[in-house]
Amino acid sequence: MDKQEIEIIKNAGIVGAGGAGFPSHVKFNAQAGTLIINGAECEPMIHVDKLLLEHDFGKVYEGMRTAATLIGAKRIVLALKAKYSDAIKVIEDFKNRTKSDGFNFEILPLGNFYPAGDEQVLVYEVTHKIAPEGGIPLQVGVIVTNVETLLNISNAIGGENVTQKYVTVNGEVASPMTLKVPVGTPVKKLIQYCGGIITGGEYAVIDGGPMMGKIIDMDKYAVKKTTKSIIVLPEDSIVVEHQRRSIHRAVKRAQAICLSCRMCTDLCPRYLLGHELFPDEMMKKMYRGELTDSDLEKFDFAFLCCDCGLCELYSCVVDLSARSLFNYIKAELGKKGVKNPHNRQYLTVNDFRDYRKVPVDRLEKRLEVDKYHSIAPLCDFNAKISEIKLYLSQHVGAPSVPVVRTGEKVTEGQLVADICEGKPGAKIHSSINGVVSEITDSFIIIKE
Ligand code: SF4
Ligand code: SF4
Repeated sequence: MDKQEIEIIKNAGIVGAGGAGFPSHVKFNAQAGTLIINGAECEPMIHVDKLLLEHDFGKVYEGMRTAATLIGAKRIVLALKAKYSDAIKVIEDFKNRTKSDGFNFEILPLGNFYPAGDEQVLVYEVTHKIAPEGGIPLQVGVIVTNVETLLNISNAIGGENVTQKYVTVNGEVASPMTLKVPVGTPVKKLIQYCGGIITGGEYAVIDGGPMMGKIIDMDKYAVKKTTKSIIVLPEDSIVVEHQRRSIHRAVKRAQAICLSCRMCTDLCPRYLLGHELFPDEMMKKMYRGELTDSDLEKFDFAFLCCDCGLCELYSCVVDLSARSLFNYIKAELGKKGVKNPHNRQYLTVNDFRDYRKVPVDRLEKRLEVDKYHSIAPLCDFNAKISEIKLYLSQHVGAPSVPVVRTGEKVTEGQLVADICEGKPGAKIHSSINGVVSEITDSFIIIKE
């Protein structure tokens, strides 16, 4: 029975809907004592998970039961912010109504801090265990999953493949909304549906939240299975300015103005869990003005950085870019074939961790996005989508392999790209009825 459900999850093309897109048939084909459902949604401006918990908890619950059975979990914990009181009420009522069906789970209210939803932070908050440096929660007997992923599992058991995605559209748009849209929907369509962009000046469009999202080209980009939000921010916002800053300029600024104050390290959530990750060490050693090859090797603790962005968007008083430099170092070391050498297993949490959690309201003010929060209700999406773009790589693993040809007719839910044989990956299905009009190395276009 379990094997059959793993096959259903695999055939439906389910990947983690809230992060990098780890294939779910791989994740749930393991055994773990604890299942954590990550409902923290700690990035500002995103409202998908709490709305799904409020409006469709029945399906999330069914997905939770399936996932917990598959991995043999004895403890199931739904962790969400204590401030999501409406969602908590819905879940508690549901729990009371289903008491007799023998499936039990805990509700764990979290503080309003960032990044509460980081996988390793969440594992510690729930279990007080720390996953090894560079490791995964499974190494301490835990599997963490996302709310929408569980909803997709429930849909798959009911016969539906992943063709829809919940996305919050927020920021400088006329009517911020959270919408259920076909995977592959052009981002431009989404923004038009939300009344268009309202800022008079220059702007940038981001896939993801202000802390971890990436700037995209709105005219070419389409919704992926992992897209949780599309936000529009003014070009001169701190978020956009950091992403546009070149590595050369980031190094020059560090060389000129790093105060060696250590705030970037002291507030780093991974350092606070005992990881040997020291952004200040890297920043104060930028005296040469450029990062040389030998510097890169010295700073291989960059592999422990989870890209949360706190060091550059919140902690640094002089606006330096430790996170961007770590991302650069990781990419350059990756090109040289260097892998993460850090794997300490027995870690001790920092004594001051509880006092150094960054409150989300202060973070929102620092990012100047506080004016946008809590205004993206769940709405119907009635726009006609006559063209979709399905990326062949919208998951962890090898890109999917097209199984259709140009000119072929396809129907909604039909498999259009399969897992590359012998490699980890995910299947991709059409989200509309149409004709395949273009296939490249990186995407498939389907038009009505
Ligand atoms: S982005 Fe900065 S604060 Fe976040 S984990 Fe990396 S080094 Fe630490
Ligand atoms: S917080 Fe900024 S100024 Fe302070 S050590 Fe880190 S990079 Fe340097």
